[in-house]
Amino acid sequence: MAVSSKVLGMMETASWIRRMFEAGNALRAQHGAASVCDFSLGNPDVEPPARFQEALREVVDSAVPLKHGYMPNAGYPETRARVAELVSREQGVALDGQSVVMSCGASGGLNSVLKTILNPGDEVIATIPCFMEYASYVDNHGGKLVLAPSAPDFDLDVAALESRIGSRTAAVLVNSPNNPTGRIYPRETLKELSDMLARAGRKTGRTIYLLADEPYRKLAYDGAEVPGIMSLYPHSIVVTSHSKDLSLPGERIGHVAVNPFADDAKKLVDGIILCTRILGYVNAPALMQRTVAKIQGLSVDIEIYRKKRDLFCSALRGMGYQLSVPQGAFYIFPRAPGGDDLAFVQTLQEELVLVVPGRGFSFPGYFRIAYCVDTSFIEKSLAGFERAARKMGA
Ligand code: PLP
Repeated sequence: MAVSSKVLGMMETASWIRRMFEAGNALRAQHGAASVCDFSLGNPDVEPPARFQEALREVVDSAVPLKHGYMPNAGYPETRARVAELVSREQGVALDGQSVVMSCGASGGLNSVLKTILNPGDEVIATIPCFMEYASYVDNHGGKLVLAPSAPDFDLDVAALESRIGSRTAAVLVNSPNNPTGRIYPRETLKELSDMLARAGRKTGRTIYLLADEPYRKLAYDGAEVPGIMSLYPHSIVVTSHSKDLSLPGERIGHVAVNPFADDAKKLVDGIILCTRILGYVNAPALMQRTVAKIQGLSVDIEIYRKKRDLFCSALRGMGYQLSVPQGAFYIFPRAPGGDDLAFVQTLQEELVLVVPGRGFSFPGYFRIAYCVDTSFIEKSLAGFERAARKMGA
């Protein structure tokens, strides 16, 4: 057998996001791309800012010796320093470039961190609904993802998280603004979480790291605050990327920042650097590191997403869909009319509209819309949403 039985099993249970994307390709081949409204993938449709193109050109045209050569595995010192300045402002904790490791996107950063902190059989706790690639990332390094329910409004349920903590708990993983709910966790909840982790760590005799996955930090609407966890909890690690905020998912550029007040902070950073190398990333892409160093803090025009969110949410609500207006990211997570997310998603597919069933986020009964697509598709899809809701008896 050419492929391991474990990977074969994983191929069979391919993620719902991928499955829907493939269903979309089949529908596009049959009906033409313009007829299919595909809201399955979080692939940003907004172009990167013009300043990004300029910065990239400056980098390409600059005469730097061995510009394409190997570099320190953590990344260029200049890039790490620029990133550290921004992280210090966002997180309310002063850190320097020594606390930053450049990564191949947020997923590369998460894998480097998880490989660094997990012993075989260790557990990482996350709140559902969540981005289910986390389960694979944790499994990649011999760990197990443990799921806890969220509060009814999709805030963290700190008591539920606490009830999952045991001697094997290495970390709690939070994602805000959240994929798929768009929820931003408020400061009070994060404070409650931090107090709980400090208490639980004393009980288990082990530092529990708080891992914040923040690729949507800059996509926060109506002036919503995305509180930094570093000022609340010392044993914290922030992972992010420019996949969403600069629309660069194909360029694989992101970073990890370790709270300088974390237990074993220096060892942790050194471990993450080593793991970046031995996982085969070696280092984050060179041209992108030089480019993003020039534009830290910049993002795409988020008003574009805000307008799409408002258009979609008010239209769906008008049809009777039950949803809370997301505060950030570019996803909406309504209840599935009729209650069966799979049946609803299939009904919607007959209307040539693609979304992801909630079970793809370990949360059946809901579905996710990724609205980072051209507004014309949102408008075109509305009649299909209305008919599908009626067919499901809502
Ligand atoms: N974390 C979350 C919550 C995501 O939604 C995604 C991508 O959709 C990632 C991580 C991975 O991002 P990247 O492309 O930067 O690896």
